[in-house]
Amino acid sequence: MPAGCDIPFNRSSLEGRELEYIFQTITIGQIAGDQTFSKKCHQFLEDTLGAKRALVTTSCTHALEMAALLLNVQPGDEVIVPSFTFVSTPNAFVMRGAKPVFCDIRPDTLNMDESKLEALITTRTKAIVPVHYAGVACEMEAILDIAAKHGVPVVEDNAHGLFGKYKGRWLGTFGCMATQSFHETKNITCGEGGALLINDEQFIERAEIIREKGTNRSRFFRGQVDKYSWVDVGSSYVMSDVLAAFLYGQLEVWPSIQAHRRAIWDTYKASLSDWATRTGVRLPVVPSHCEQAYHMFYLLLPSLSERTALIAHLKERGIHAVFHYLPLHLSDYASRWGGRPGDCPVTEDVSDRLLRLPFYSRSRYEDQARVVQAVESFTAL
Ligand SMILES: *Cc1c(COP(=O)(O)O)cnc(C)c1O
Repeated sequence: MPAGCDIPFNRSSLEGRELEYIFQTITIGQIAGDQTFSKKCHQFLEDTLGAKRALVTTSCTHALEMAALLLNVQPGDEVIVPSFTFVSTPNAFVMRGAKPVFCDIRPDTLNMDESKLEALITTRTKAIVPVHYAGVACEMEAILDIAAKHGVPVVEDNAHGLFGKYKGRWLGTFGCMATQSFHETKNITCGEGGALLINDEQFIERAEIIREKGTNRSRFFRGQVDKYSWVDVGSSYVMSDVLAAFLYGQLEVWPSIQAHRRAIWDTYKASLSDWATRTGVRLPVVPSHCEQAYHMFYLLLPSLSERTALIAHLKERGIHAVFHYLPLHLSDYASRWGGRPGDCPVTEDVSDRLLRLPFYSRSRYEDQARVVQAVESFTAL
C-alpha cells in the first residue's frame, strides 16, 4: 500500500476458526499435506460444488500447470486464452512448450468473446482456457459447444469465480478441469494456495500422481498398493495442512464471507450509479443468467488520463485503488509469438481504462462511504 493510504485495496481477515485449526495441525502433528484439514477442504469442494475430485494445491498457477501436464500439452501445441488475464493462465501451458493464442474479450463482461473463439481453433489447439473475469461467468454454453465440435478440452481458470454460477450451475464444474486460487487477494484465502477441480474422471488418478512428485503415494496412503514408487512425471503441488487449516476455517463460513462481499458490491453499485451515468463511467455488467461471485468492483473510465487522475485523486484521500491487466499479447515475452496492437482491440482499450476500488470482506461501512464520497468528488470528468 502506498505511504499515506489508510484504506488499502485489499485486507486479509480472520473469518472463522482459522487460528484454532492451525493450532490443531501442530498439536496433532499434521503439518505436511493431505492430512485431516486438506481432506476436509477436498470433501468440502466436492460436496459443495459437485466436482468429482478436488485437490488443494500450492497455488492456482500450479493447478494450471497440473492441467497442462494432464492434457499432455507438448511443444508446438496451441492453447487459447483471453489476453485480458493474469500471466499464469497462459504461462502454465507455455511452460510445456505451448504457444498461447490470445482471444479478445466481450465489451460487457470482459470475458473471453465466444464469437471470436472458433476462428482461433486449429488442428494444434490443445485446450481452451476461459477465465470468469470478476467472478461473472463466461458464455459457457457457446464455449462448450465450440470446444465439443472441435474435440478440444476446456479448462476453466476460476480464480475469481468460486461460488459464482452460470444458469444455476457452479462455476468450476463446466470444464474437464477447473482451477481455484486462494491467494490473499481472492475471496477465500490462505495466503498462497489453490485447487484443481476435476470433473472428468479419467484425469483423477494421474492428477494424484502428478501432484505427489510423480509417485503413487496417494494410493499407498489409501492402502491400495503396499509401497509407493516413481510412476510418472510430477512435482510438489501438495498444500501444507497448516495452510489447509486456515483455508478450511474460511471455506466452512463461505456464506458469511460472500454475504459481506455482496453487501460491499451492492453498496458500490447503488451509490455510484447516478454518478457513473452523469460522468460516462461504466460500472460492471452482470447478465441476468449469471450469479456473480462478488470478487471485485471496477470502474471503466472514459480514458487512460482520467484513470490516472482518479487513482491520484483517491491516493490524496488515503485510498489505494489499482488497475490490471496489461494485454498479454503485447507483453515483452509474448512478442516472440508476434502479437501486435489491434489484435485484441477490446482488451487493449479496457486495459487502459479499468480501475478497481478497494474490496475486502471486513471493510468498515465508514471506509466504504469514504471511498464512494472520494470517487464522487472527482470532478475532472
Ligand atoms: C490470481 C489469479 C491466478 C493465479 O493464482 P495464484 O494462486 O496466485 O497462482 C491465475 N489466474 C487468475 C485469473 C487470477 O486472478
